[in-house]
Amino acid sequence: IKSLPMDGISAKAASDQETQDFVANAVHELKTPLSIILGYLENLREPATLDDKDLTQSVLDVMDRHVVRINRIVDEMLIISKLETREKNSLDRGLFNIASCARDVIERLEIVIKKQQVDFDIQIPELEISGDQFYWSQILFNLIENSLKQNPDTAIKIRISGEVNNDESFTIRVFDNGIGIPPPDLPFIFKRFYRVKKHLPKNHIKGSGLGLSIVKQAVEAHGGTITVRSIPNVETLFVIVVPHFKGPIEEIASSA
Ligand code: ADP
Repeated sequence: IKSLPMDGISAKAASDQETQDFVANAVHELKTPLSIILGYLENLREPATLDDKDLTQSVLDVMDRHVVRINRIVDEMLIISKLETREKNSLDRGLFNIASCARDVIERLEIVIKKQQVDFDIQIPELEISGDQFYWSQILFNLIENSLKQNPDTAIKIRISGEVNNDESFTIRVFDNGIGIPPPDLPFIFKRFYRVKKHLPKNHIKGSGLGLSIVKQAVEAHGGTITVRSIPNVETLFVIVVPHFKGPIEEIASSA
């Protein structure tokens, strides 16, 4: 069936529906860890629990993990809401070194990296690009963290590369050779709250499913595009292309 172009009213209805879905999903995602925390809090009030130091510690650990999760969901929702405003000047553009931005991100992920077997290959030129560094850190962080998070127990390769194209656009690629994304899931992974069911860890706290939707929105706010292809256990490759990255800032801002 060919989809018809939307008129103003149905476009608005679709966007209202999207907002409603977002709120309903967000409430659900927050409610689950909150209920768990409340349950454990009740446990903690029991004298039998309080008398047992080890038990108290493990209850506190679980509560801690769920609080961290709530915190992350709220942080990510704030980022989405900022990106949603869609105002050109909601980006805080400036010139920054994209290679050192990638290095900072990897440093932030050091604790996770140390626990895993990762072979990193970073080939990003020492270039100043124009953009909002906060969102670029977020883009790289979410993509690299996903590669790590989805492959906790296997040795993997992660390759991050960047290059300037002939038309002055800039391409960034993030590759890993881990578990990958099954073909039926691929069309949905940029959707909010979408997670690949097969990947949900049994004993770990699941991700929010917001990471890639933030990546996509942040790339688009810079006038760029993001694509993905994945062959499980062979390659998962995200390719970002942003236009006119090198020109004077005013020129870039007006073309965004
Ligand atoms: P999450 O918070 O779950 O990481 P994302 O929006 O970042 O949410 O990712 C959506 C889903 O896409 C993840 O739950 C995961 O199943 C899948 N995914 C993303 N990146 C990768 C990757 N590099 N390898 C395998 N699966 C991935």
